[in-house]
Amino acid sequence: MSSLRKKLIAGNWKMNKTAAEASALLKDIRIGVGKRNDVEVVVCPPFTALESSAVALEGSMVKLGAQNMHHEANGAFTGEISAPMLRSLFVTHVILGHSERRTLFGDTDKFVNQKVLSAIKNQLKPILCVGETLAERDAGTTLTVVKTQLEGGLEGVNKDTAATLVIAYEPVWAIGTGKVATTEQAQEVHAFIRGLLGKLFGDQTAQKIRILYGGSMKPANAGELLAQADIDGGLVGGASLEARSFLDLVAAAGTAV
Ligand code: PEP
Repeated sequence: MSSLRKKLIAGNWKMNKTAAEASALLKDIRIGVGKRNDVEVVVCPPFTALESSAVALEGSMVKLGAQNMHHEANGAFTGEISAPMLRSLFVTHVILGHSERRTLFGDTDKFVNQKVLSAIKNQLKPILCVGETLAERDAGTTLTVVKTQLEGGLEGVNKDTAATLVIAYEPVWAIGTGKVATTEQAQEVHAFIRGLLGKLFGDQTAQKIRILYGGSMKPANAGELLAQADIDGGLVGGASLEARSFLDLVAAAGTAV
């Protein structure tokens, strides 16, 4: 039933690109994407490049995402950025619970959940990341870890708004390592996630939610991954930093059935 879901390619630029570099890259990306609307394309620059990116993308099909946010609207949270602040810069998506946030900055499921609820309340689409470490995979606990992160992150999410969610399955051992999950490994977890979403929100809604794969996705391995029944796109780190590889991934998503 993947036809219900438009493929989505999201670029996570992490801590890369100044405002000027972002504008230059987006110039090429917007030309490359052109008017195509068979694939949804989102770029997530660092906070400092969001404003120049919004200008560079004005009138284009490419949407703007952020890489994190705080759940409160404002207040004494030094160094943080809120959902209304992102909205004011024409941001439509926000990555939440990325494994780098979880491991390096202490984001817990509870904290991620507060952010998810705040994003939805402010009409931002969360891209909720879940995924196991290598030790967890080796210990055979992949599905338990993913279930805990998914259920924890989505606690209190209303069935009516759930279809706008995007989930990203990112095995931590595949992020930035060049090691990609096999199509079987990825599809198994994606199908499991869809089953969990069905239990939480009903099957009809679960069929509408995009589940992205993330972890060393490149033009060379994307076709096979994107052809899997429950893989609806990619959350891309390294390969999103250059127009050519990012556009090749968009093209791969366009031809994947
Ligand atoms: C990511 O950080 O979300 C990611 C998938 O990175 P990479 O594509 O570089 O593995």
